[in-house]
Amino acid sequence: MPDLWLPGAERHPLGDTAPTDTQYDPRVIWHITWDKNATAAEPADLVSFDKLVQYFTGSGAGAAPHLLWDPFTGRVAQFYPANSRAKSVVDLAGATRTNRTGKVCLQVETLFFPHCRVKGKVYPTVRDTPAKGLDKILDWARSWGVPDAWPMGAPTWKANRSEHIWETKGGHYGHGQTPENQHTDPGPMPKWPGASPTPKPGPPAFPGRSAFGPGKSNASVLLLGQQLVRRGFGKHYRVGPSRDWGEADRLNVRDFQLAQKWSGSDADGFPGPQTWARLFG
Ligand SMILES: [Zn+2]
Repeated sequence: MPDLWLPGAERHPLGDTAPTDTQYDPRVIWHITWDKNATAAEPADLVSFDKLVQYFTGSGAGAAPHLLWDPFTGRVAQFYPANSRAKSVVDLAGATRTNRTGKVCLQVETLFFPHCRVKGKVYPTVRDTPAKGLDKILDWARSWGVPDAWPMGAPTWKANRSEHIWETKGGHYGHGQTPENQHTDPGPMPKWPGASPTPKPGPPAFPGRSAFGPGKSNASVLLLGQQLVRRGFGKHYRVGPSRDWGEADRLNVRDFQLAQKWSGSDADGFPGPQTWARLFG
């Protein structure tokens, strides 16, 4: 078994361990401690590491992560062993057990808030910091099988959440990408090897209206038909979709358009960009 405790981390075991839901892929959830609301015009001094250790071993134990990480010094404190859940994200009853999702669900609180000041210099994002010690945390996560990628893309300040991706992909997540949560942290993070976001295959480009209609035969007609069947609008096909446009294609497209509550020329059975976008969206 890999190390339950990150080598070199200061250990502050809280006890109170609980198993994770190990049928899901291993992951890391990244946070920032966001202790103060500073701005570019009014930066504020970073809070001390020891104060945060005190907090997570005291009144803040109910929201403690696995790791508290200082990206300026590389200092790390650990509160839970890797195979326990931590408590830094909201976990509503009933749905995904967000603090427990994964063979491991390692949570890291980065000692940081936007526009914190350290030794006279102001840092807007974690990406701007020296990220000292990050490599050790990543190695530890890898030893637990966490892939380097961000399944929902590298974090930004904008939250985006997909419960489906969360449940089906291991890797790195921002708090802002965790289901059931309102936070938007950690914001832009340092880049690491292999972490380029896995681009989701987008919908195919609309080939133009002229690809469809009587006498047309091409790959787009086939693609259209296959997607109609996939979406449950294939009942007019006798055999199945093909490269050759036929009346069955038009009737299936029309059914799909009518199901969008479109009418008139918007539901004539010939796909335009809107139909295409809806169908593949
Ligand atoms: Zn957070």
